[in-house]
Amino acid sequence: MWQAEVRVDLDAIRDNVALLCARTSAEVLVAVKADGYGHGMVPAGRAALAGGATWLGVATLDEALALRRAGVEAPVLAWLLSPGLPLHEGVGAGVDLSAATPAMLDELIAAARRAGRPARVHLKLDTGLSRGGAVAAEWPALLESAAKAQAGGDLEPVGVWSHFACADEPGHESVDRQLAAFREGLTLAASYGIQPRYRHIANSAATLTRPDTHFDLVRAGIAAYGLSPVAGETYGLRPAMTARARVTLTKRVPAGQGVSYGLTYVTPRETTLAVVPLGYGDGVPRHASGTGPVRVGGITARVAGRVCMDQLVVDVGDEPVVAGDVATLFGPGDDGGPTADDWAAATGTINYEIVTRFGSSRVPRHYD
Ligand code: PLP
Repeated sequence: MWQAEVRVDLDAIRDNVALLCARTSAEVLVAVKADGYGHGMVPAGRAALAGGATWLGVATLDEALALRRAGVEAPVLAWLLSPGLPLHEGVGAGVDLSAATPAMLDELIAAARRAGRPARVHLKLDTGLSRGGAVAAEWPALLESAAKAQAGGDLEPVGVWSHFACADEPGHESVDRQLAAFREGLTLAASYGIQPRYRHIANSAATLTRPDTHFDLVRAGIAAYGLSPVAGETYGLRPAMTARARVTLTKRVPAGQGVSYGLTYVTPRETTLAVVPLGYGDGVPRHASGTGPVRVGGITARVAGRVCMDQLVVDVGDEPVVAGDVATLFGPGDDGGPTADDWAAATGTINYEIVTRFGSSRVPRHYD
C-alpha cells in the first residue's frame, strides 16, 4: 500500500529506445545520468539496453562506477569530469571518459598507467554550445596531445564528440553551423591520425529530426523516457513516469474560504477541497501554486493556493472525491490526464526537470 508513488513503466522505456533504434542506423547511447532522469539509473539503463541501446551515458564518474557495481557491462561514457578525480577507477572499470584539455589527457595517461590498461577517451569539441569541449583554437593542441598518448599506448581515442545547443528548435540555424564545425573538427583529427570508431553529436532532438547528424552513435535521453524534446510533437513516444498520491482527506468549505499558506486562493463558491500528500519536498515545483493540473475523481483540477513542503490542496468542486482516491499529477496522458509536459507548461520549465525532480525525491519509485 502506497501513499504517494512515482511509477515507472520500464516497458515504455524499452519500447521508446526500440523506436529510436528503428529511426537510425547508428548505435544508440541512452543518457541515464541524474538517476535516469528520475526513472532510476540502473533499471532504466537495463530497459534501454533491452530496447536495443548499446551504450549508456552519464555525467559523473561516480554514476559510471555505480553502473559497473550494479553489473552493467555495456559501454559507458562519463562526460563531466573535474580535475583530481580517481580516474584510474574508471579506466580500470572499462569506463569511457571524455576529455577536452591536454591537462585532462595527462590525468588520463596517469590513470591508464595506474590501471594497467589504456584509457578509452572521447575527445570533446565545442562546436558552439560554449559549455564543455575544446574550442576551435584549442582543438589542435588537444589532438596533438591525444595523438602522442595514442602512440605511447596510454590512450585509445574511441570517440570524437560534441553537443548541440538548439536541436530542440527544428530549423534553428545553429544546428547546421555546429554540424559544419564538427565535420571540420573530425577532418583535423584525421590529419593527426585520430580516426575514432565513434563520432557523435546528436541528442534526442537531433536523433528524431536530423538523420544527417547521427554519425556512428546518437545520445538520447529525454526521448527514451517517452517525452518529446520538441514542443508539440510526440513522435509516438510513451511517457514512462507517473506521479500520483492518495488523497489524505477531503472537506466541504463555504464560499470565500482562503486556502493554504498565505490564503492566496479563495473559494469562489461552496466546494470540496482535497488534500494530496505531495509537495515541494517531493518534487512538486512551488511555481505550481494555482496552476499545476491534478487528475482526481473524473476531473482535472488545479492546485488551489500554495504548494507546501509535503502536501497541496485541490478544489474539486462538487466532484464526489473521498479520502483514499488516487490523485494523479502526471502520467502518460492516454486517459486525458495531465502529462509531464502539462506540468512543465504550468510551471515555466521543461519536461526534463519535472521528471528528474519527482523521480529523485523521497517519493518511493515503483516499477511496472
Ligand atoms: N548528451 C549530453 C552530453 C547530454 O548532456 C545530454 C543531456 O542533457 C544528452 C546527450 C541527452 O540529451 P536529451 O535528453 O536532450 O536527448
